[in-house]
Amino acid sequence: MNYGGPFGEDYWYLNTEVHDNAKLNHFTPHKVIDEKTKRRPGWFRKDEFAFPKLSAQMAKLVRAGGLVGVGSHGQLQGLGYHWEMWMLASGPARSAALRHSQRLKDYWQARGPGVD
Ligand SMILES: [Zn+2]
Repeated sequence: MNYGGPFGEDYWYLNTEVHDNAKLNHFTPHKVIDEKTKRRPGWFRKDEFAFPKLSAQMAKLVRAGGLVGVGSHGQLQGLGYHWEMWMLASGPARSAALRHSQRLKDYWQARGPGVD
């Protein structure tokens, strides 16, 4: 989740076609999709969203050797988590995000199945 501006999910509701997403419609009751896509709490300019700043901060953490966790609160199963990943990896942070994903892969592979 990102804070400090309009919720990042609103960027995706405003700028992508969520209502007609085939996978979402396969796994989610259409009534739920209608509730989430037909009325949103607001409209925001693209430069009001906070996720580019968050992404830039993540890039600094990754370059310093840190690991960054991603999560979503389940407001929209499936897509919501992807939106969070895409926002973190947006803009100039993309290369840092790729390095970060390789580091996470190495981290979890080194621990093998049944990790604590
Ligand atoms: Zn509908």
